[in-house]
Amino acid sequence: MIHIEHLNKDYRVAGRSVRALRDINLHMPRGKIFGIIGRSGAGKSTLLRTLNLLERPTSGAIRIEGNDITTLDKPGLDRLRQRIGMVFQNFNVLYAKTVADNIAFPLRLAGGYSRAQRAHRVDELLDLVGLREHRDKFPAQLSGGQKQRVGIARAIAHAPQVLLCDEATSALDPETTQSILALLADINARLGITIVLITHEMEVIRSICDHVAVIEGGEIVESGPVAEVFLHPRHPATRSLVAETTHDHGSLAALPADGATRVRLTYTGDAVHQPILTRVAAHCGAGITILQGSVSRIKDTPYGQLLVEIGGNDAEAAQALALLRGLDVQCEVVR
Ligand code: ADP
Ligand code: MG
Repeated sequence: MIHIEHLNKDYRVAGRSVRALRDINLHMPRGKIFGIIGRSGAGKSTLLRTLNLLERPTSGAIRIEGNDITTLDKPGLDRLRQRIGMVFQNFNVLYAKTVADNIAFPLRLAGGYSRAQRAHRVDELLDLVGLREHRDKFPAQLSGGQKQRVGIARAIAHAPQVLLCDEATSALDPETTQSILALLADINARLGITIVLITHEMEVIRSICDHVAVIEGGEIVESGPVAEVFLHPRHPATRSLVAETTHDHGSLAALPADGATRVRLTYTGDAVHQPILTRVAAHCGAGITILQGSVSRIKDTPYGQLLVEIGGNDAEAAQALALLRGLDVQCEVVR
């Protein structure tokens, strides 16, 4: 759907050229939720804004449905922007207009809708984002999450093919964040809108994204399906972002060494629902002690992570590891 090829972006700062994006190559499949994660200043907003040409690339191509958008003329650009909605961190609502008028605004701007058509579409959108009973309120009377719902309804008013979200939940508390993420996932699933979102929180990626790219210093340092990148991060930048969401406690390192093999186990799918450790321990006679553990979810896939110590002699420990690997459990020997 979206192909980014050798994309570079330079900003001019005080007469000097500063590279914000360096040789970005990405493919974002149609109908999926594609997340881009990175620290502040990494280039996330710049990258997202090149997708609707709010920022012009310095070089490279951006193909949407095969057409390089960097070559569009003004009418072509106007048409493109109707097909691409955008949601912002600060909600971007009009404070002097009611909820219903906020949502009607992009339809009014575009023209081509009768009054009745507009009213009908606004009702539809109000239902979709769950704001029907708030239609005549002003933004100042709404919570942050409700304001973002207005922002989302406005962004999808024209039924775009793509929705760009720039830190859409970063101004919200964790609970509201989850409800907005659920709304975005619902919009993606029900309307088939391709979503590209940027965030600095791995939790956002884990909750709703199918694919993720990690950006650091204007470069993509890692990308792939979320489960793969989240469970087996390779690049230090990814590892550090993932570590913030897992429940590693530094105190464990201080546990006395006792000659046992310490192993991090990661498993997905059916294995989550099976008493794997009991089976393995019974089979090979090695005692297995759980030091830490959690079962969580990557989008719709449950996964478990355990930190365990395998007792017994080396042969018994090796047998236990072989059995675990045979059950599709990924084992990383920590010590
Ligand atoms: P992020 O969204 O990941 O925080 P940005 O894309 O906003 O990162 O910024 C990437 C880099 O580009 C930063 O070093 C930032 O200072 C710089 N930058 C962003 N916008 C501009 C601009 N309009 N002019 C000059 N430099 C900019
Ligand atoms: Mg930003």
